[in-house]
Amino acid sequence: MEVGATANPEARAGLYIHIPFCRAKCPYCDFYSVTHPLEEDSFLSALLTEAKLWSEFWPRDLPLETLYVGGGTPSLLSPRFYERLLEGLAEALPLAPEELTLEANPEGLGLEYLRALRGIGFNRLSIGAQSFSEKGLSALGRRHGPEDTRQAVEAARRAGFENLSLDLIFGWPGQSLSDLQEDLSAALALSPEHLSCYELTVEKGTPFYRLLQEGRLALPSEDLLVAMHETVPEVLEARGLKRYEISNYAHRGRLCRHNLLYWRLKPYLGLGPAAASFWERKRLRNPEDLEEYLRALREGRLPTVVEEVLEGEEALREALFVGLRLLEGVDLEELSRRFGRDPARLFASEIARLRDLGLVTLEKGRLKLTPKGVLLANQVQLHFL
Ligand code: SF4
Repeated sequence: MEVGATANPEARAGLYIHIPFCRAKCPYCDFYSVTHPLEEDSFLSALLTEAKLWSEFWPRDLPLETLYVGGGTPSLLSPRFYERLLEGLAEALPLAPEELTLEANPEGLGLEYLRALRGIGFNRLSIGAQSFSEKGLSALGRRHGPEDTRQAVEAARRAGFENLSLDLIFGWPGQSLSDLQEDLSAALALSPEHLSCYELTVEKGTPFYRLLQEGRLALPSEDLLVAMHETVPEVLEARGLKRYEISNYAHRGRLCRHNLLYWRLKPYLGLGPAAASFWERKRLRNPEDLEEYLRALREGRLPTVVEEVLEGEEALREALFVGLRLLEGVDLEELSRRFGRDPARLFASEIARLRDLGLVTLEKGRLKLTPKGVLLANQVQLHFL
């Protein structure tokens, strides 16, 4: 991989660590993970070697202000692993995180484990609840029950986590509108500071995809899905969780700072197999293959490859593509300053067409989705692909 060593003038960046281990694969999931865990020591040493190799490039004056450990199932690994990981990362990189998130599956999340994580410095927990009904969890092939999530949240609160996020999936096979309302009520009863609510998408290569091709997966109808898309914000916003991204809701001051970096096209560094980075306008990615990832590091080289270099118009397209997911929209003048080209002029015809269709508004230099645009966000985004 060729990367330049010029300091990046942008002041904020985030660090993502991918933990590629799961107990079993869920039939809808296309995130990279394996079900044969590596010894913690071997994986730790690979991650720290990778961080050290990156330290030659990553500017010391670009602090990593957020840390997000995702997966896979990060909660499968021990607090001791994370303690040593954070120590090693801080030695190699300008790690100064104010928000430290760990993704966790509800099963087996005990008080002692969570206290240890809190003690190490994690201050945000994102729990994969997905549904609160046995029917929903079984339709999604999840291994936990609704009680596991309730107990995990209770334990997290007792352990001192004041910033909790819950993940929910809607549109699972057999789900009705009242099932969705019950899921939302059950999630709200746990008073999370943040909620991510995603429609189930059937990705190529997953068991769900095969079932769908064979006509054996009964997903909700289009009409029902539209009703679900309307219900989610209605219910959550009525309870004070403000929608700030198409699928994400938060109480004041509890937006996920790490994910905001992605949507604002700010730099981030990703370590671990399948992790992506964005730096100096380059999209970089590690191989989705644990062995290949480990081999590169054993040989003393970064496993990372440059997927794409975003220059000029391409960078602006990408900034609009990801930025329009945010309800605050994108500041066209700021983009113009950052990328040296004016998106209002460059995309004048796309913007005019979308405004005519009532899908976006342009106010005080800010381009954002209208309520109709939020419902049809995928179509709006396609204009900037
Ligand atoms: S959904 Fe989560 S727990 Fe299930 S296979 Fe994917 S990463 Fe693992």
